[in-house]
Amino acid sequence: MKVFHTVSGLRDDLNKERQQGLRVGFVPTMGNLHDGHLALIKQARQSNDVVVCSIFVNALQFGLNEDWDKYPRTYQNDCDKLRAAGCDYLFHPDDIEMYPNGLDTQSRVICPTMTDVLCGASRPGHFEGVTTVVSKLFNIVQPDEAIFGIKDYQQLAVIRRMVQDLCMPVLISSAPIHRETDGLAMSSRNRYITAEERPLVTVLKDSLEWMAGEIQSGSRDFSGLEEAAKARIIAAGFKIDYVTACNSKTLDLAAHDDMEITVLGAMFTDAARLIDNLSITL
Ligand code: AMP
Repeated sequence: MKVFHTVSGLRDDLNKERQQGLRVGFVPTMGNLHDGHLALIKQARQSNDVVVCSIFVNALQFGLNEDWDKYPRTYQNDCDKLRAAGCDYLFHPDDIEMYPNGLDTQSRVICPTMTDVLCGASRPGHFEGVTTVVSKLFNIVQPDEAIFGIKDYQQLAVIRRMVQDLCMPVLISSAPIHRETDGLAMSSRNRYITAEERPLVTVLKDSLEWMAGEIQSGSRDFSGLEEAAKARIIAAGFKIDYVTACNSKTLDLAAHDDMEITVLGAMFTDAARLIDNLSITL
């Protein structure tokens, strides 16, 4: 695996790959890689000749009170995992390389409306940071295909929308949620969960599964289902951010005649904010 820390270095090499007609697949990450990330690399490997991964903990997508400075950085370990997973290129820039003019004057990419709800409501500016860095990374890597995890459902929907709105020449593919054996969605932030909380946090997934089951069985009392799911999560000792049934594509609140619905939830443990989701077709 070749490692580059500069835009120009990576570009020079990838240009040569493209000139040979090779297809480039790309997986953007913030590092601290787990099996969920590596499944994305393996998926990219299947449909591309060259696989590029980026590791960049993007300050632009973290709020002032969020965990940018303590976000786990495990570079050497990540490199070993990427090599074993068959990654060809790692792009690992520093903040200056990505934002040479500083964050305040950085040009931004904004995807309105869809980013105001769900995670966007409780993390103002988060998705603007995501769409901006992903646009930059797409311009740097110029991939044929980029793979994102369904785990971050709203992020995937926003990126699909951005690519469509801005006519970006990249295929966006999704990868299923990778879970621990008890069903907890894998996440770099799971390390913030305490030993006491750990057996209880699957309540988020269980509550979303219950909601999805009720909707599959014909219930359309979305707000009633949301309240019941929230009550279950609160009873397990966690604080709610949101639990909602949405139109899978637009992320608008689910309507009675929607055929594709995604239930999404976010809850707070003492030190972590956990998200999960489940999509159903009626
Ligand atoms: P992150 O480094 O957490 O920003 O994630 C990088 C990519 O990995 C994003 O596309 C995430 O959606 C994806 N990802 C993170 N966790 C999982 C998981 N448990 N299953 C599948 N994809 C994931």
